[in-house]
Amino acid sequence: MTEQPALSVSNLTKQYANADHPVLDDISFTVPKGKVFVVVGPSGSGKSTLLRTIAGLEPIQGGTIALDGEVIETGRPDSAKAGRSRRSSALRTRIGMVFQSYDLFPNKTVLGNITLAPTLVQKRDRAEAEREAVKLLERVGLADRKDAWPHELSGGQRQRVAICRALILHPEVLLFDEVTAALDPEMVREVLDVMLGLAKSGQTMMIVTHEMNFARAIADHVILLDGGHIVEESDDAHAFFTNPNTERAQQFLRTFE
Ligand code: ADP
Ligand code: MG
Repeated sequence: MTEQPALSVSNLTKQYANADHPVLDDISFTVPKGKVFVVVGPSGSGKSTLLRTIAGLEPIQGGTIALDGEVIETGRPDSAKAGRSRRSSALRTRIGMVFQSYDLFPNKTVLGNITLAPTLVQKRDRAEAEREAVKLLERVGLADRKDAWPHELSGGQRQRVAICRALILHPEVLLFDEVTAALDPEMVREVLDVMLGLAKSGQTMMIVTHEMNFARAIADHVILLDGGHIVEESDDAHAFFTNPNTERAQQFLRTFE
């Protein structure tokens, strides 16, 4: 028997309430376990929407989303006005997400931010959660900042804490939405290096990024999203970024030269 993919998205259709056409139109792909799946595309092409539907932050109107072979989300045509999907919190914690903005809780320390969900949602023992949090902080080079407040950290440090906060829930898939886009250039590298380390450790990830050199280096599989469709996809990131097949991909990549 072949192994189930970590994530399979089948015929996903997403249309916002009051919009006259779908943002994502019949999208299908799979993310194998332990692989890095990169999504690129112009602004407004639906990259954030795609990650948000997978994370359960947005309902879908068609198709299915399955995690390790188990369907966790089914499209309902009448769901466009619902704020969130109906997914249970137990299912939600199986997918982690890190956003562009550093959304740490300002009134909690670094350690408090990381241990909040495991102690509150998963009812884990605080001391045990704190031990794991410290290990994760060591992994991202921030062990000495565990008692700091978010406002005392640089943007790059906050994003590394946000990554720890997602990792402590042991997500089967970890989603990254332009996590370096709001950072000063000198802080981009420290965050990308953490992501490269995660990829090496076998964490399944979906990454939306405008850092094309990073995308080429980290991707096992890449898709170009445009106009609600996957216009090109490749499991050879080097070929995709140096010599794409479609005119649209060539045109898109030229904007980064
Ligand atoms: P990207 O991340 O690729 O820039 P988005 O997923 O943010 O694209 O947006 C895709 C399209 O959906 C855009 O046209 C955007 O205006 C629209 N959109 C995004 N969020 C909402 C929303 N909450 N309600 C209505 N339309 C939205
Ligand atoms: Mg976006």
